[in-house]
Amino acid sequence: MKFATKLIHGNYNLEKNGATNIPVYMSNAYAHTSPEELESIFQGEALGYAYTRVSNPTVTTLERRISSLEGGLASTAAASGMSAIYMAVTNIVKSGDEIIAASGLYGGTYTLLANLKDIGVKVTFLDELNETSLLNSITEKTKLVYAETIGNPKLDILDIEKVGEICRDNNIIFMVDSTISTPYLVNPINYGADVVIHSTSKYINGTSNAIGGIIVDGGSDKYKTDKYKNFHDYFNKFGKLAFTAKLKASIGRDIGAAMSPFNAFLTLTGIETLELRMKKHCSNAIKIAKYLEKNEKVVKVNYPNLKTSKYYDLSEKYYSEGASGILTFRLGTKEKAFKFITNLKLILNLTNIGDTKTIIIHPASTICAHNANEEKEKMEVYDDLLRLSVGIEAAEDIISDIENALKAI
Ligand SMILES: *Cc1c(COP(=O)(O)O)cnc(C)c1O
Repeated sequence: MKFATKLIHGNYNLEKNGATNIPVYMSNAYAHTSPEELESIFQGEALGYAYTRVSNPTVTTLERRISSLEGGLASTAAASGMSAIYMAVTNIVKSGDEIIAASGLYGGTYTLLANLKDIGVKVTFLDELNETSLLNSITEKTKLVYAETIGNPKLDILDIEKVGEICRDNNIIFMVDSTISTPYLVNPINYGADVVIHSTSKYINGTSNAIGGIIVDGGSDKYKTDKYKNFHDYFNKFGKLAFTAKLKASIGRDIGAAMSPFNAFLTLTGIETLELRMKKHCSNAIKIAKYLEKNEKVVKVNYPNLKTSKYYDLSEKYYSEGASGILTFRLGTKEKAFKFITNLKLILNLTNIGDTKTIIIHPASTICAHNANEEKEKMEVYDDLLRLSVGIEAAEDIISDIENALKAI
């Protein structure tokens, strides 16, 4: 199946009654006719459902759909993107281990990783994640390399293939947050990522009506090596699926941050139009980026597919169709940035991305307000910087709203 077809039919067999959409199974528990049957489900020897915190038919359908879109072996849905990241990372590392991470990360992820020092995990943040910086930072204790395909809000483009190669050569698990690029624009597993994470709250859901996250397991032999001893029991039983097997049996169950069946249903509805939406997000974003570049009140525009971007070559390699719908621009001072927002009429001022609606935010005073100045510098979050999540409205209407607000400053 081509991608557009998988979005609608991937890994779904119609219910016996012919329902074309999976029902919302709002049931916490599932009755079984024999104790033997329930025993084998609890032992992980038979497929079946016991309790919705562990698995649920509606949620499983979303997991299977996203596995098919990412080319993964299995997926685990979570209550939010943040809980997905927390579970995926702590499924790998324990006290004494080290992580190497990019610094242009989503603010919440940066904080989550930095806080791991409290449980004895050291994280090295690299200003630029490239071959040299990565090779210089790897130690014997490095268990995980963590990065975003397109950094938010730095908009740096990860060379997935290069980092994938280095992680393969050095036997390190490579985990990628692909929320901004979505499975439509890139499949990181094809370039060597072992685990892919999405906040499904964003483009995958598309209309911002359900929070959620997902962890896609690409499968790996790394788990059978000496470095990953805590996976050996799982590898012996489940082979390449060791990551998911451990996740479902330990941290996933312990934390209980399961996705609600209703949110899985809404996300399955939204995902059907992912390709159509991403095409429009991308074509609108480049139009707006080019418009902003020409306006003299705009100091600097950041969009990876602009020729002026330092990530242009990488962006052409991975995102020739467009590097998603996020762009940032600078207006000179914080006052001007605030005045610009105040004068917008169509574009909404709120913290979110990946919605059909165009959204703006001043990162330094909001999503990055809890980061120290030094951290903001690393993330390239300046006082006059605005982040625009370009929606799928008519580009002309978005541009005319921007034009009016620029006139006011
Ligand atoms: C929003 C976001 C998250 C967190 O996801 P939630 O669903 O809000 O918990 C993680 N990574 C990226 C890149 C995001 O944009």
